[in-house]
Amino acid sequence: MKNSKPNILLIYTGGTIGMVKDFKTGALRAFDFKNLIKRIPELSLLECNIDTVSFKEPIDSSNMHPRYWVQIAEMIEDNYHNHDGFVVLHGSDTMSYTASALSFMLEHLAKPVIFTGSQLPIGDLRTDAKENLITSIQVASLKNNNQPLIKEVCLYFEYKLYRANRTTKINAEHFEAFASLNYPDLAESGVHLKINKEHLFKPNLKKDLIVHKKLDQNIALVKLFPGITEAVLQSVFNTSGLKGIILETYGAGNCTTETWFINLLAHAIKKGIHIINVTQCSGGSVIMGHYETSNQLKDLGVISGKDITTEAALSKLMYLLGENIPHKAFKINYETNLRGEIS
Ligand code: ASP
Repeated sequence: MKNSKPNILLIYTGGTIGMVKDFKTGALRAFDFKNLIKRIPELSLLECNIDTVSFKEPIDSSNMHPRYWVQIAEMIEDNYHNHDGFVVLHGSDTMSYTASALSFMLEHLAKPVIFTGSQLPIGDLRTDAKENLITSIQVASLKNNNQPLIKEVCLYFEYKLYRANRTTKINAEHFEAFASLNYPDLAESGVHLKINKEHLFKPNLKKDLIVHKKLDQNIALVKLFPGITEAVLQSVFNTSGLKGIILETYGAGNCTTETWFINLLAHAIKKGIHIINVTQCSGGSVIMGHYETSNQLKDLGVISGKDITTEAALSKLMYLLGENIPHKAFKINYETNLRGEIS
């Protein structure tokens, strides 16, 4: 069995990629995934066995929710030992959130989990779905010394493979819809599939997969803007049961030094709420203490998100809160690079 074809599990959650146009009405509808090979006969040319599993009711990814993240994680867990790689078909709108969350939920992952989708439905003449799907399956099938080459959660879109928890959706209409501004591409698909091996995640292969399913949603995301009022922030910060806030600050992690704002943060931290500083910029890193306007945050005990994306920052917070980490150790844990999400 050693050199047999890799077994790939295709997980369909929804999104444009799995839709076809009804030529009479012009409306998009989900197609039955069991007929996938019929729709894309090219798939039978791939050097792998493909199994498919689908959400009972495929969703537009704008309706994505952590309970669906758990469903995807369980589909991978249940099929982990009899498959060599996983391809998750997902709407592009919230793909970076889901894929980032899965990277934290699947600890010691030693096989590829490739998220992909498309801007145009698979039945469309000019679709980007076929290339995205076919190359994702090829990437998930790659082996090195009979072991999966890729051992992390990735996102493949428009000829590029990215580390999932480094991605952000940057364009609603271009085929090149995603970017990874703080980490190099893991692979590029041209005439050849060029894998940048030195950038691949290297998990501890001595450990078995652990699937974390507890995600705490008692968090908030606050984007600062010049003129944000105390009343608005008070209402967010005083939300009952709130345990953590992702604060999107300016530039390298800077924010207003107005007294009411600093007092608000100090009060929240005293109450035990974790505050994470991430930048509103698409690229670059928070460096607390670099400017006077972020020095106070450092002194207050605000956690640095460093160069994490907002999408990864949110799911890392839900994941670590779900792990019930002792309060004192939380900051160190959050600031630690767990799955390649920070530099
Ligand atoms: N709204 C769709 C979704 O995210 C868009 C897409 O599939 O790309 O599910």
